[in-house]
Parts: sequence; structure tokens; C-alpha cells
Amino acid sequence: MFSDFNVKAILIMLLFTCAAIGAHEYGLLDTSFDIRAENPDMLKTPIIEGSAVKSEFIATEQSTRLNCSITDKSSFSMCGISLLIGLHDEASDTIDPLSFFKGKDFSKYDKVELAVEYSSPIPDQRMRFTLRNYDQKYSIPNDFVSLKFNSVLFTPKSNVQSQTIPFTSFRVEDWWIKERNIGFEDAQVDISNIVFIEIITDKIDANGDHSIVVRDVIFRGQMISDLTLFQVILVCWLIFIIALVLRQTAHLKHISNTDALTKLMNRRGISDWTNRASATFVSKQKGVLFYFDIDGFKKVNDTHGHALGDDLLCALGKIVGEILKEYEDSNNIAFSRLAGDEFVIVANRIDKQQADTIAASILKKLSSPININNRLLKVGVSMGLSSFDPIIDTFDEALSRADSAMYCAKRDGKNRYRFFDDHVRDVIYRRKQIAESIRKAAENNEFSMAYMPIFKAKNLYIQKVEVLLRCHAPGLDGVGPDEFIPIAEEFGVIQNIDLLVIETTFRHMYRHQKVFRNSNIKVCINISAKELNNVHFVSSLKALLTDYRIDPQQIELEITETSLVEIDSQSISILNDIRNTGISLALDDFGTGYTAFSQIIEYPIDCLKIDKSFIDDLHPDNTVKRTMISSILAIAKSYNLETVAEGIEKDEQFKLLKEMGCDCIQGYLLSKPISWAHFKTLLEDQDGKGNLIKVVP
Ligand code: C2E
Ligand code: CA
Ligand code: CA
Repeated sequence: MFSDFNVKAILIMLLFTCAAIGAHEYGLLDTSFDIRAENPDMLKTPIIEGSAVKSEFIATEQSTRLNCSITDKSSFSMCGISLLIGLHDEASDTIDPLSFFKGKDFSKYDKVELAVEYSSPIPDQRMRFTLRNYDQKYSIPNDFVSLKFNSVLFTPKSNVQSQTIPFTSFRVEDWWIKERNIGFEDAQVDISNIVFIEIITDKIDANGDHSIVVRDVIFRGQMISDLTLFQVILVCWLIFIIALVLRQTAHLKHISNTDALTKLMNRRGISDWTNRASATFVSKQKGVLFYFDIDGFKKVNDTHGHALGDDLLCALGKIVGEILKEYEDSNNIAFSRLAGDEFVIVANRIDKQQADTIAASILKKLSSPININNRLLKVGVSMGLSSFDPIIDTFDEALSRADSAMYCAKRDGKNRYRFFDDHVRDVIYRRKQIAESIRKAAENNEFSMAYMPIFKAKNLYIQKVEVLLRCHAPGLDGVGPDEFIPIAEEFGVIQNIDLLVIETTFRHMYRHQKVFRNSNIKVCINISAKELNNVHFVSSLKALLTDYRIDPQQIELEITETSLVEIDSQSISILNDIRNTGISLALDDFGTGYTAFSQIIEYPIDCLKIDKSFIDDLHPDNTVKRTMISSILAIAKSYNLETVAEGIEKDEQFKLLKEMGCDCIQGYLLSKPISWAHFKTLLEDQDGKGNLIKVVP
């Protein structure tokens, strides 16, 4: 919350507040009005009332002096000096007679400083200082008495020393209130339009000579009153706090909508953007959502480290961002990283052709290696595109369709893009149907195991048996375990099929322990690649071995070569842990991946299963295949790996492999996957005969 900027802003505001209060306190904001200095030509007139007689009146720039004498103290007499501050406003004379005088506004002053000397026949004779106010309501032009009478009594100093009188001491004269017959409100001291200032004697009670000298009249005040200053500071702080909160809210919103690594939008950002943008759409306008991820990103992370993986994501974000900038309507395009290596582009108001162009240019650009920290990385992306009608579809719906299209792009061989269409819909529909069928099968217990014997090539004795999962649910005809197992797991229909198969097999072995012990065959169980990332797998496996009292020497787990494509140190340690239990490991479908021999020997495996696709075109005339297979067999032998050839369907294949020294043979030629009962008789039949056995399933 308290970012550097906020702390600085608050400090600046505090500084400003202190400076304002300081300037106010130390008088920097004070103001004054010296009537002598500011109005050198002002009209100064003597005031003589009653029995008073003027004996001398001298007005200079420095001072104004009036000498008068009172001859009859019993009658009302006074004398004084009048200073005209207001202006005779000729322009408004005819239009508005009430604005005859334009006075001065003294409301910003709060005291007056007077340098007035007065000598009278009796001591402490008081004087009256009066501000004559031109009040629109009560003042009549030319009738000076009608001017509002704000005055204060004071005792003048006998020398030039000045004395200060606060404005709060001024009051409207009682006689004036009585004469005008007005209430409290209207009698209030109003100093906004002062026309005359008068310095006059109070009622005189002594006959003789009086002398008044007015030297300085200076009004003092503050440009801003305490209250105004407080209000200004308060308003400033209020504005400041509101601005800070607004800025902070915008900042938080930006953060919550931005991906910290790439600085692109995140999922929330692009989802908001899409929904906001769709509000401005006109019907029939469509958008396209592009969803893509990096093929084999996990391998980049594992091989080069996560830091480089992060740099790759940033670089990819920049490259794609540049491509999108070139697009003519870049305001209508948003680009985001959803999570991991998944990116989404939403382009509004584009047609399929434009979307094709964008997708193709992204794939083309990414086909050249990317330089990350002086390392050239070649990456591919698989992309799914989906048109969406912003009025009907939500962001999530469009994303889900693009996800399906991306799934098909990956299935079709990766590094390509694919639009969501009827075919994609069918593929996804089929997957959903399969998932649904499996869900029902799980409820009705419609799974079983088939047993496929693996024969020793030399004597055709059954050496091992591979357990293969079967599902008899209606709707799963022609759907093999290699298709339905990943779907079942992806849709979360069955939590961990591998452990389910292992437990079922172990339970079966426990029940038929006599058969297994006597025949001494190995039971081979397939496990999927994900177990190589499952840290709990080995402990579950060990628990099952103990629970069903299984001799681990009788178990072999098969993992496919392709699952090793994304192998990392954690996966190797899981493989080692499995092997340390006494269970052996076989590398299944060897030849379908791209593992080099030098790499294979680093994996803790005991057996190599050569894939059917390798065997299929093996015949006596295919010397290339024969050489390849015999070198695989030779190298495997040199590393002490047992060899199994899968998918043997022809006699000639069997003979060649036997000649070349392949240890074991598995295939329809010898046996298809069969039921347990069938497999059991096969085991019993082979005893001591050692002849080629053909099994009719
Ligand atoms: P896989 O591990 O390579 O198993 C061998 C597959 O090849 C079996 O197909 C088997 O019927 C077939 N096969 C063996 N010999 C021949 C032959 O001579 N000709 C022909 N045409 N086919 C042959 P299936 O049972 O459909 O299994 C397919 C794949 O499904 C398996 O390939 C394995 O990867 C996977 N799978 C099967 N059961 C399980 C299981 O319990 N767990 C896991 N994780 N995967 C399993
Ligand atoms: Ca297998
Ligand atoms: Ca296989």
C-alpha cells in the first residue's frame, strides 16, 4: 500500500502544510494598508460640531492637524478629522444612485494601528475612531449621517507612539440603530465598503483648546485567516487523499490485471478487457480468440533452468506483441499470459482470413530460433482459434473452444494452428462421450484385465505376462486403453488408473499366488508418464507390495520411451526408488521416441521393449531394418539390458529376431491378450514341452 511514491507524496503534503502554517504564523502571509502612503491625495476635512470653533487645520502628506476650542461645554460639541477613502463613482451615478460611493473593502484586515495625538484641557479625554460604511440598504448618498457607523472609543497617546485596536472592538453606534430602527442582523459591523474614516473627540466636557494630530492609520491583517487557512489545508488534504486513493485503486487494478513476469495482461485482465470491449460491439461483429502454448516448454525448463524458461516467456511475449502492433487495428487486440506457457490473444472485429494471417505470422516468426542470453532456442507453438460472438459468448466459452482447437492442433503434430470447427467439436464430443462411458463403467465395475504372454525366444516358454486394461462398457467399442486411460484421467473420472491396475493385479496375484510362484513368471504392468512426477507413487507402490505380500522380483513396470522425453532429475530419482524396491523397469515402445543410446544407459532400466512399428517391416530382405535391430540388440546386450520384441505377427519376424539374439518375443503370432483362465491353461500346457504354442484367443 505504501509505495515509495505514496510516502514521497505524503511527505510533500506534510511539508506544504508545515510551510503554510509556518508562513502564516511568522507573518509571511500578513498584509497591510497604510492610508497615508497609499492615498496621498485623499481628501481630509475638519469636523466641527456644536460650540466648537476651528482655530487651525493643517493637512500635509505627513500628518493632519486640527486645533479647535470649545466655548460651551454644556451643549453637544465635538471636533475631529474626516478622511475620505471611498471614490466618487461617477460612472454609476445615473444608473444606480446607491453606488454613489465605492468604498474600500477592509474585511481582510483585523486590526488598525493608529498614531494619533490629542491634547485637551482635561486628561484622558477619549477619542472615537469611526469607519463609515456605505451600506446599500441604509445609506443615502449625500446624507453622511446615514452611512453605517462602526466605531471604537480609545484613549490616544500623547506622543507619536502608535496603538493597535482590533476590529472586534468596533460596534455599530446605538443612536444609529435607534435612528434607523433596525434589528441585530442589520446592525452587524460591516467593513466591506468603507467610505470615510473619522477620528473625532468623544463627548467634550471641558471648555478650552483641543488639538488633534493624525499621523498614521495603518490597517493590518492576514491574507488568509486562521479559519480559511485551516479550511484550505483541509481541502488540500481531502483532494490529496482522494487523488491518492484513486491512484492507488487504479494501480491495484493494474497489478491485479497484469502478469508480473511478462507485464502482459493476466487472465483476469484479458477477461475484463474482452467483456468490456464486447459492450461496445455492434451486432454481427465478431472477434477471434487465439490460445497457444509452447510445445515442450517443460523440457526447456528442465534442460536450461527455470530462469531461462522465464526469459523465453518474456521474449515470446515481446515477439508476439510486436507482430500484433503491426496489425492495422491494434487497439482492438489484447494479448495476455494466462498461466505457465499459455498465452491468449483476443482480437475484436476481425474475420477468419485476418485471424489466419495473424496466426500464420506468429508461427512463422517463431519458426526462427530465439536468442535468449546468447543461447539460440528453437520453439514451436500449438495454437487453437475460436470465433466468438461477443454478444452471446463469454470469454470463458470462447477460451474453452479455442482450448479444444489447440488440443487438436497438438494431436495433429504440434507447431501449428487450428480453428475450432465441426471436426474439433466432434473430437471433443467423442472425448466427452468416452469419459462418460468410463464413468458408467467405473460405477458398474466394467473393467477387467487381459493377459498377454511374453515368450522366451529360445524355447518359447512364457517368461513374462503383460497386464492390459480392458473396459467392456457400451460405447467403448474400438477404443483402446491407450485412448481411454488419458481421457479418464484428464476428465477426473478415475483418479489414478495406474495404482488401480497395480492393486487389482497384486490382489489377483495374491489370490493365485500358487500359480505365480510355481511358474516364476514376471508380471509386467504399464504405468503412465505422469507417475514420474508423482512423488507419492513409490510409497503407494511399496504399501501395495506389503499389503498383498508380493515379491517385487516378480513385478516389472513399463514406461514408454516418449515419457522420457520430458524427464528431469526428479523423474530419474523416482525411477531409482522404484528399482530400489526390487521391481524391475522396462522401457516400452522403444524406437518411437528420439532417445539416443548414450542417454538410455543413464536411465535405471532393466529391459528394452522394441516397438511394433520397428518390427512391422522386418523381413529377410530388409537389410537396413535388420542391421538397425541387430545393433540395438547388440548394444542392449552390452549394457546388460534384456530385450523384448513387440508386435510379432509373422513367423519370419520371429525367426529373424531369434537369430539376432532377441531375448523375448511378444505378439499376436504367439498369443493375443487373453483372459486369466485362458492364460492359466497356457501356463500349465507349456510345462516341459518347449514347443511353439499357437493360442487361439
Ligand atoms: P503397449 O504397452 O505397447 O501394449 C501393447 C499393445 O500392443 C496392446 O494393445 C497389445 O494388444 C498390442 N499388441 C501386442 N502385440 C501385438 C501384435 O502382434 N499386433 C497388434 N496389432 N497389436 C499387438 P492394447 O491392449 O490396446 O494397449 C494399448 C496401449 O494402452 C498399451 O500399449 C499401453 O501403452 C496402454 N495400456 C494398456 N493397459 C494399460 C494399463 O493398465 N495402464 C497404462 N498406463 N497403460 C495401459
Ligand atoms: Ca506395454
Ligand atoms: Ca509397447
